[in-house]
Amino acid sequence: MAKEKTYRGVAVSPGVILGKVFILDSQEDTIVPHSIETSKIPYEIARFEEALIATRREILNIQKQISQKMGVDHAEIFNAHLMVLEDRSLIEEILKRLEKEKKNIEYIFQQVITKYSDVFSQIKDEYLRERASDIRDVGKRVLHNLLGKKKEDLSKLKEEVIVIAYDLSPSDTAAMHKENVIGFATDIGSRTSHTAIMARSLEIPAVVGLHDITKHVKNGDTVLVDGHRGIVILNPEKKTLGLYQEERTRIASFLVKLEKIRDLPAETKDGRRITLSANIEMPEDIPSVINHGAEGVGLYRTEFFYMGREDLPTEEEHYEAYMEVAEKVYPNDVIIRTMDLGGDKYLSHLDIPNEMNPFMGWRGIRYCLERLDVFEAQLRAILRASRLGNVKIMYPMISGVVEVIRANEILEGVKQRLDKEKTPYSKDIEVGAMIEVPSAALTARDIAKHVDFFSIGTNDLIQYSLAVDRVNEKVAYLYEPTHPGILNLIKSVIDAAHDNGIWVGMCGEMAGEPAMTMILLGMGLDEFSTSSASIPEVKHVIRSVNYEDAKALADKVTSFTTPGEIKGYAEKVLCKSVPELMEQKNKKLKHRR
Ligand code: PEP
Ligand code: MG
Repeated sequence: MAKEKTYRGVAVSPGVILGKVFILDSQEDTIVPHSIETSKIPYEIARFEEALIATRREILNIQKQISQKMGVDHAEIFNAHLMVLEDRSLIEEILKRLEKEKKNIEYIFQQVITKYSDVFSQIKDEYLRERASDIRDVGKRVLHNLLGKKKEDLSKLKEEVIVIAYDLSPSDTAAMHKENVIGFATDIGSRTSHTAIMARSLEIPAVVGLHDITKHVKNGDTVLVDGHRGIVILNPEKKTLGLYQEERTRIASFLVKLEKIRDLPAETKDGRRITLSANIEMPEDIPSVINHGAEGVGLYRTEFFYMGREDLPTEEEHYEAYMEVAEKVYPNDVIIRTMDLGGDKYLSHLDIPNEMNPFMGWRGIRYCLERLDVFEAQLRAILRASRLGNVKIMYPMISGVVEVIRANEILEGVKQRLDKEKTPYSKDIEVGAMIEVPSAALTARDIAKHVDFFSIGTNDLIQYSLAVDRVNEKVAYLYEPTHPGILNLIKSVIDAAHDNGIWVGMCGEMAGEPAMTMILLGMGLDEFSTSSASIPEVKHVIRSVNYEDAKALADKVTSFTTPGEIKGYAEKVLCKSVPELMEQKNKKLKHRR
């Protein structure tokens, strides 16, 4: 019996699944070089041209299928692939080397494509770095056409498998049929790659960034993909399977229980009503929002529009997507956040420079306030989509009152132009500010006078307040939502909002942490917005407790001085108030090795 082995990577799409391995492809095709005669060069060139044409046809075909299945936005990604095929300097270098070195075209092609993708993968700018995977993906297709080899077609799979690959191109992920591909794991990748985003919208458990998993598994092996913890277990032992099975059964029966409260309000036992909404990245996420019982969308991240394309999204594209979401969640609300590119966000071709400190650089609202063409097109689309009355606007990365005033002036200008054109929109559309920069939290009382609501972005608020890079594993231990400094800031923002008669929500990950729910509730938070999958647990906590007890807890934790004490105490209280939930969490932790 082969030994169990655990590989660690990055969790990008939750869920746990056990299945048989299907290797889509590993890192490299081995091409043996051989010399050719000068007279054979035209023949090699003709083969190369044929391979390029065949690859172009393939990509256009996939683009068409994806456009039909998943929408035009997803299909746009392939424009970058088509551009690689047409890259003059790449093609010229291949032809030059062919003339000079007189080796088989497959070999020359592979050498040049590897050189190009290596150069791109070392560039600091994440957008350009991502082009490396486009080059690799297209390169593999061309090579397979040259070799007369067909890449495995995921849409034709006959049985359930877990796909293991060096990298998955967007075309691979999109071709996956949920019934047959039950999970996947890759050598490379990050949370913000196209693949990760697609995996989440397909709701397939996935782990990426496993370094060399393709070297350790073979077709037919049994693996367990744990998309919660970011691990892949090869040949799981009986004991491991037993633990996971227990967890699955427990989660399944707990989910059945949670299912029963799906359509009930997020209301405490003593009648405090909370709005519990979901975070989304694209209109395709809406079914999941509805299935998990969220009340609309509390954060629509709109960065996805700008990625994987060479041009700017048009006002019409924005409008269609926003309208689709507004209609689907109606009569619930959708809060559309204006574009927040920069930092760790999906990068696009936009002229955001390569900066030393991108998290503190020219991003989000800072970019929009300078690039009025980009900002106004988005604002016009949001306003037009507001005509049903359920759309709100939110500005990201606000650092002080001046930015809000300026953004509001621009919004006013856009409204006046719409009035002139007699284009309908909701005149009393609510406008909010994200509070995610410490200076905004500290001046929340001033900002509150210019907006209708706040949404606390704890992902960034924690990183900036504690000086902890939110994507750096080395300092992850310092990233503490229960740091007393963070809780003080959150409480002061909530009070500033209420004292000024506006409501306040939270859309950072902290809003989806059941152990934090009672504290936030007790501090007076009015709205929680989190990933769809976290909604049922948070709702369960809210419906199981009294607001009065939550207030007492929020008060009590102010007497502690360390994050650990606060976390420990909050969990203890939750254990008492919602025992079955904490039982779940504790059991999960027990075999987290
Ligand atoms: C946040 O910073 O908490 C937030 C919700 O925004 P994002 O994660 O998109 O930066
Ligand atoms: Mg943020």
